[in-house]
Amino acid sequence: MKRTNAIRAYEEALRYIPGGVNSPVRALKSVGELPLFIQKAKGATLTDVDGNRFTDFCLSWGVFILGHSHPSVNKAARSAVAHGASYGIPSLPETALARLVNLRVPSMEKVRFVSSGTEAVMSAVRLARGFTRRNLIVKFDGCYHGHADHLLVSAGSGVAGLSRASSAGVPDVFAACTVSLPFNDAEAVERVFRERGEDVAAVVVEPVPANMGVVLPEGDFLPFLRRITAQHGALLIFDEVITGFRLSAGGAQALLGVRPDLTTLGKIVGGGFPAAAFGGRSDVMALLAPEGPVYQAGTLSGNPVAMSAGAKTLQILSRDGYYAKLEKKADRFFSELSDVASSKGARLNRIGSMFTLFFTKGEVRSFADAQKADQSRFGEFFRYMLANNVYLSPSQLEANFLSSAHSERALRRFIALMKDFS
Ligand SMILES: *Cc1c(COP(=O)(O)O)cnc(C)c1O
Repeated sequence: MKRTNAIRAYEEALRYIPGGVNSPVRALKSVGELPLFIQKAKGATLTDVDGNRFTDFCLSWGVFILGHSHPSVNKAARSAVAHGASYGIPSLPETALARLVNLRVPSMEKVRFVSSGTEAVMSAVRLARGFTRRNLIVKFDGCYHGHADHLLVSAGSGVAGLSRASSAGVPDVFAACTVSLPFNDAEAVERVFRERGEDVAAVVVEPVPANMGVVLPEGDFLPFLRRITAQHGALLIFDEVITGFRLSAGGAQALLGVRPDLTTLGKIVGGGFPAAAFGGRSDVMALLAPEGPVYQAGTLSGNPVAMSAGAKTLQILSRDGYYAKLEKKADRFFSELSDVASSKGARLNRIGSMFTLFFTKGEVRSFADAQKADQSRFGEFFRYMLANNVYLSPSQLEANFLSSAHSERALRRFIALMKDFS
């Protein structure tokens, strides 16, 4: 595979951008590769600066459920930009998308738009603290909620509360306001509420974690979180930045039948442009400025180009049978893939149209399980697939995605390649 232009692009980027990338995983370090430099993308295909083509199973981290460069979405964005890219003054596309979000995700009685998932979760957490007048946030190991200080904590040693930040530059006093617990561990949650229930502002959770690889919530775990937060006057925040409009038209909460107090959206909601949202109970959202005392703002928030692309995406997704069709394709693919995977010492975790192949023998139901997976074996698999023009999400601890643009042929090829992987 020719990589000369990519290597030159990388060397040039390294001169001006730390690590040559604007988001760390893109450097492909954990899989022992050099970064790709993409020229264009269409449907399920990426084309790099050397003219190599890859079938994309990362899809900008799940954004492109309709495939890249969907003609109607691009058209909506183009006609929006023709009227000006940003005003810093309200415009109609903001209300139009808020209305659509409320229609699909009824728990989001009020919605506010921001520019990234990080901002959405950070703001939802601030709001929960303002509403409850409490400080403590409970999260789960391996769940990712963006890179705001209070949420960059993953390795709490349970109730002892010895929370440690996952990044340099996060003061211990911030990390101390967050307790991180094992996912699917109701007892650990119960213990924290028993000991510190009056301090807990919110439990924030990816209802189906995708950022430690796909891990499924067990039977009663989410309903239990709903009950225990309600009992203790804490809020339940579902971070649906990945699962929103991915697992169903109403996200994970519609699929799993649990109604959170606040929800965050991102990725799909902007149709490929920088937009994200948080929203939920009217009485909670009423505390946001300018109605209430919790401050939150953004120069490009509710950007009309992103709002228009997002609205067009949601309209297409709500066409009859969209998700049923995508899932049928996914089901066929996964049922074959699961067998091939086990013959290669890997386990398939999947739900809807997202999946992770964990190179491990045991079940993966928590971050601790996911971390047992063989990262170097995954690295071999990633490089093998890349050499065969398939781009996977570039880490063992990430999710892969299908789109309506993936052809049956591309999926058959994935399976055939995995069969030949040694
Ligand atoms: C991607 C993601 C975020 C962060 O969103 P950004 O737009 O990258 O800031 C937050 N939460 C979850 C669950 C995500 O998948």
